[in-house]
Amino acid sequence: MRRLLTPALLVALALSAPPAARAGQDNPADRLLDQPMDAHRADRATGCANKEQPGALALDGWLAARMPVGEQWGIEKCRRVRGGQSWSLHAEGRAIDWKLDVDVPSERLAGDRLVSLLLRRDRRGRPNALARRMGLQEVIWNCRIWTPLSTLQRPYGPCAKRKVDRTMAHRDHVHIGLNWRGALMKTTFWRSYLPEPPPPDPSSPSPPPGQLDSLARSSIR
Ligand SMILES: [Zn+2]
Repeated sequence: MRRLLTPALLVALALSAPPAARAGQDNPADRLLDQPMDAHRADRATGCANKEQPGALALDGWLAARMPVGEQWGIEKCRRVRGGQSWSLHAEGRAIDWKLDVDVPSERLAGDRLVSLLLRRDRRGRPNALARRMGLQEVIWNCRIWTPLSTLQRPYGPCAKRKVDRTMAHRDHVHIGLNWRGALMKTTFWRSYLPEPPPPDPSSPSPPPGQLDSLARSSIR
C-alpha cells in the first residue's frame, strides 16, 4: 500500500530540505515569465579589465546565499585560458569560480544541482532559462561544458588529454562566465534582482554597540 503524505507533512519536508534541494523545485527563471526572454549570447574576451564586473559580484552573492557548500574561488585575473591563447573571461572580470570537489559526494551533488538549475527549461519550455536570464555564456563542471552554441552540455575538450589536472578538468570547481549584458547586469534576472542576504558568519562576532556609529560613518566614504 502506498504511503500518503499529508499536506502538513509535505510542508514540513519542504521546509526541512537543504537549500539545494529546494532549488530543485524552484527555478528563479519562472518568476520572470512576463518579461521577454534574453537571447543566447557570448562575447569573446579581448584583454584585461583589471576589475570585477558588477554581474560577477552579484552572481557571487547569489551563489553564497544559495549554495549549501563550497566557496568563491576567484573572479578577476589577468590571464589567458588554461592551455590556450585566447583571453579568459576572468581577465575581464566576468567569470566566477565556485570551489566544489567532485570527489566529495555532497559537493558533487551541489555542483550537479547548480548546473541543472542553470540549464533547465522554464515553465514555458524554454531551455537554459536561468542561464539566459542571468546572461551566462560558459558553465564548466566535471569535464562538461555548456555554451550558447547548444542547449545541452558537451564533453570539455581538455579532459580528452591523457594528463589533465583537476583544475583544468574543472573537477575542483564550477566555472561560470557571463556575457557582457550579464556582466553589466542588463539581463532580465539582474534588472529585477534583489540581493539575498549573505548567510550569517558564526566566526565573526557582532561589533559592540558603541562601534556601530563609527562603522556606519566609515562605510559612507
Ligand atoms: Zn574559471
